[in-house]
Amino acid sequence: MSLTIPYENLKTLNRPFEAAFKQKFTDFLDAGWYILGKEVTKFEEEFGDYHNEQYVVGVANGLDALILSLKACDFKDGDEIIVPSNTYIATILSIVHCGLVPVLVEPDINTYNIDPQKIEDAVTERTVAIMVVHLYGQCCEMDPILSICKNKNLKLIEDCAQAHGATYKGKLAGTFGDFGAFSFYPTKNLGALGDAGALICKSEKHYQKLRQLRNYGSEKKYHNEIVGYNSRLDEIQAAFLRIKLPYLNEINLHKKKLAAIYLSELSDNFIKPVVNNDFSNVYHIFNIRHPERDRLKAYLLENRIGTEIHYPIAPHKQKALKFMNHLNYPVSTEIHNTTLSLPCSFAHTVEDIHYVVETLNNFIL
Ligand SMILES: *Cc1c(COP(=O)(O)O)cnc(C)c1O
Repeated sequence: MSLTIPYENLKTLNRPFEAAFKQKFTDFLDAGWYILGKEVTKFEEEFGDYHNEQYVVGVANGLDALILSLKACDFKDGDEIIVPSNTYIATILSIVHCGLVPVLVEPDINTYNIDPQKIEDAVTERTVAIMVVHLYGQCCEMDPILSICKNKNLKLIEDCAQAHGATYKGKLAGTFGDFGAFSFYPTKNLGALGDAGALICKSEKHYQKLRQLRNYGSEKKYHNEIVGYNSRLDEIQAAFLRIKLPYLNEINLHKKKLAAIYLSELSDNFIKPVVNNDFSNVYHIFNIRHPERDRLKAYLLENRIGTEIHYPIAPHKQKALKFMNHLNYPVSTEIHNTTLSLPCSFAHTVEDIHYVVETLNNFIL
């Protein structure tokens, strides 16, 4: 059965850029330079300009951006990183991969983001950093988090994979912390045509270290200063991203416009995202919550509307993270059990969203 309104359609989403992509690919073939060339350098500059930041390092993907930020800090085995309990598992995996200990903190049920009031209780002698996630396109409440970092001398890493262009009190996601880690996975608000990622950092020292870490510990060919990785931003993906970056604000505005329709027209049978003027949400994901989520999802599918669940299983319940399967995070579990993500992409039209709203408002329990 083909869907009338799929949750996402990347081909449609990228169609406006197709001619430019094709031209770029031709130029790329002509240039014959495939790794760490001028496209990567220029994308780093332009992504930095967008954020008004000086230090940007392109990397292979969002997970690596998180891993390399932790590696750049030289934490010791067993050091603790505070991280939200409801996030995509990548955030937590980055900590595990570095031999560090993820300490999960519950979200605020109204924002779905880490609850600043609960962070302080989780800080111990071994805490070295907070890794916040700006989930679904909305920034965390940064003021209290920044003051905890300052008071307890903790590093701050932002997982911005869902928050390109989102702001808190007018300041962009990725510019609050020591590191802002981005993914350009194709479905993200700024999406490549494959895997890609980037890091914003605040110091020259971290910048140099990250540039070495992504390229075998080397800035100068065959001179390996540290134990690095191969995590370079691909040249052709950087070239494609340079085409889309100037449209990021337009993409975000489109998503905001669609979200505004849901917010004003969906009935109160559904729990909608809470709007607060301190936050400019870019709605990477527009989610609602409903106690009969699975039935609602099936009902929408019968009406040929695609939806997703972000996420069906909480990270602490995943087999991969057996060591935390016994822990209890009731707020996170409640969100995982009731959340449903609705179509809200650059490829959707206002009419699509009206159809989804109408269908939803006709849902009978
Ligand atoms: C997508 C995503 C990542 C991982 O990005 P990749 O590029 O797929 O590695 C990390 N954190 C969050 C919150 C994400 O949504």
